[in-house]
This record gives sequence, C-alpha cells and structure tokens, in this order.
Amino acid sequence: MDTSPQPKSVPKSSHIKIVALETVIPDDIMPGLLLLRIHTDNGLIGHGETYYAPHAVAALIHDWMGRRLLGSDPLSIENHWRFLYERASAFGGRGAELRALSAIDLALWDILGQALQCPVWQLLGGKAREKVRVYNSSGGPTYGRRAGEARDQGWPGHGDMGKPGPLEDNWASNFAAGDLAEELLSEGYTAMKFWTFDRAYHQYGPHFLPWTAVKECIRPMEEVRSRVGDRMEILLDGHGFFQLPAALRIAEAMRDLKPLWLEDVLRVDNVDTLSDFRQKAGVPVAVSEMLPTREEYRLVLEKRAADYVMIDPTWVGGISETRRLAELAQVYNIPATMHDCTGPLTLFAGLHVATAVPNVVFQESVRAHIRTFYSSLIDTNVMIENGFALPPEGPGLGTRLLPSLFAPEHNGYRISR
Ligand SMILES: [Mg+2]
Repeated sequence: MDTSPQPKSVPKSSHIKIVALETVIPDDIMPGLLLLRIHTDNGLIGHGETYYAPHAVAALIHDWMGRRLLGSDPLSIENHWRFLYERASAFGGRGAELRALSAIDLALWDILGQALQCPVWQLLGGKAREKVRVYNSSGGPTYGRRAGEARDQGWPGHGDMGKPGPLEDNWASNFAAGDLAEELLSEGYTAMKFWTFDRAYHQYGPHFLPWTAVKECIRPMEEVRSRVGDRMEILLDGHGFFQLPAALRIAEAMRDLKPLWLEDVLRVDNVDTLSDFRQKAGVPVAVSEMLPTREEYRLVLEKRAADYVMIDPTWVGGISETRRLAELAQVYNIPATMHDCTGPLTLFAGLHVATAVPNVVFQESVRAHIRTFYSSLIDTNVMIENGFALPPEGPGLGTRLLPSLFAPEHNGYRISR
C-alpha cells in the first residue's frame, strides 16, 4: 500500500528540490550495507543502497556529493551522474565514489518513478520480457551477515559456509549438492551457482591447485549431474581467487560437466590474461562484477575475454550505468547478467534493468537472503516463481526501505540538509 504523499501533477519541468540525504548502516542485519534515502521538498523519498566500505561511502555522500545534490532537481538524473562521475574520476576515484554514485542513482530513479507513478523499468523503455530468469546462488542465511565478525565481512568467498539446515545453500552446495539440486528443481530453479573452489583457495592459495583438490571441488557438481542430469544448469564462481595455471586446471576439469559459465575463476585485473584464459578454457566464461568502469568492460569485450558480462548495479554507477553496460555488451552480441549477493535494492535495481533491456539474460538471486533478512530491510519483497522473478510493479523501485531503519540512534546514521 503506497501511503506516501504524491505530487499533484506530473512535472513537465521539475520544480522539485532535494532537501535531505539520510544514510544508515544496518550492521545488525548486514554490516557491509549502506542504505540511503533522498528526501524532496514535495515529500517524496528515494531509496538507494550499495555494499562494501559503508562508512567511506556515507562520508562521500554527506561530505562531498551532497554539496551538488542538496537544493538541486532530483529528476536531472543524467546530469547529476555525469557531474559526480567526472568530479570523482578527476581525483582517481573509482571505488567508494562509484558506490556512492550508485546509491544516489538508484534513489533518483526511485524518485522519478514515484513522481510519474510508474515502475523504473517502464521509464527505461518498457518491458523487454514478462519475467526475468534467475539462478540461485550459494549464500546461506548468515552469509555476509554476522555482526561482530568483521574478519569475514565484505570479502567475497570468505563468508560463512553455514551448517546443515533449511536454506543453508552454501553448506549444501559443498556437502549435499544432489539434495540441493533436487530441492531447487522442485521450486522451479533450473540453474544454480557453486562456490566450491573457495575452500581450495583458502588451503592452497592462488598459484597451484593439485589435481586431488580440483577433483574434490568438482565432486558436488558431478553429483548434481549424476542426480538430475542436464535439468540443472551449473555455474561456478571462483571469486577472483586464482592465477592462470590454477584457473586453467579448473576449466579443464569442468569441461565434461558442460557448465553454463565459469565466473571469476581467474583474477580480473589483467584483461589480456582474461582473454588468454577464455581462448584456452573450453567452457563459457563470465567477467565480472569486479570491474569498476565502462572502459574496463569495453576492453573485456574488445579483447574477446568474456562470453557473458556480469554487472552489479550498485557498484558500477547505478541503474543508469548498468543499462549502458548491458547495451555496450549488446554491440558485441555478448549477453549481460546481473549480480546480486548483497542487499535487496541491488536485486530490485537489477530486475528493473533486466526487465527493460533485451540483452540481459540472467539475474542472480540468493533465496536464503530473500526469505530471511530482506523482510527486515524492505516493505515489499521480490516475487520469484518457477525460476523467474516478476518485474516489480510499484512506482519507482517498487519497494521501500523500512522507515524504522533510519533512526538517529542506529549505527552510522547521518543526515544532511
Ligand atoms: Mg561473482
């Protein structure tokens, strides 16, 4: 039920102004998240989010980007994006700055959608599809979440492996993969992502993997093939852990399993080496939510280093940049796929782009997160049915961060007016 104040008419030339920026870090729910609200003088509230280094991102929003935003027109989304990107890149800023810009961009699209009373996907050009194909990723209910255990926060592949139990998909994908595949198929999922090589990295490091370790790490995927055959697509994420020889050994071992893709099995910081890997891998390769900017994605595409490009909407610069990257990949006839394993607005942002942009093929999703803690963050959850997510239907992002999260006594709460 949408109870927020609405503008009396659709603005032809906006006279709305931004009057406040509000952030909070929900460290009792997911400590790496930064949640943002942008308030306008006509009572609209735009919602944004990013993940990783949340205190640094909050500082950028309040102490620096707020100087541009407060008092300005929230509907000038592209103008704000370009200004803030150019100011950030002028000082070498490509990490926390792009995360801050991402959260802001989501909130501005949310405001525009509320002002016009339609979903963001409609504003992006309308539906390219009626529903978005998802796959289930291996996070369990506590992956990336444990407050007070800072050692494991924010490091991909260093999160909690979990324990036997409901929705413990990280544990199950390692130690009961056949059962997990059958359970997922019964829910309609036809693709699942494994992180089984994380433990090999922790034991052996990035340079060399003995065949015994490789075989142990592919055993869960072999179990899925023998249990359910080709009904389940198999994806592997290496979290950027390995150098070329180890990555090639993994690819060689995976060939008979016919994976949908190998993602970030190789570190992504040299595009030529990524290209070498793809030429030799013999399986499709996905690259990578770890890339920061359009130029890195262009190089990956130009050098034929990927069969899929993976994009995180709250790391690369929001909905605006995610759409541009997906369209860039279209030029090369390489599909784009949306990353998620963090907060709920990242998933919603990806779904809006995936609904509207024909070149998006998959949306990552973590059922353990959606069914456990997302309801502590948002008022309307994502709908997944038979392996597909339905496009959000409400105005703007189609969900709102719970107002109770933005309380002055909460950790990291800041407001700028
Ligand atoms: Mg990944």
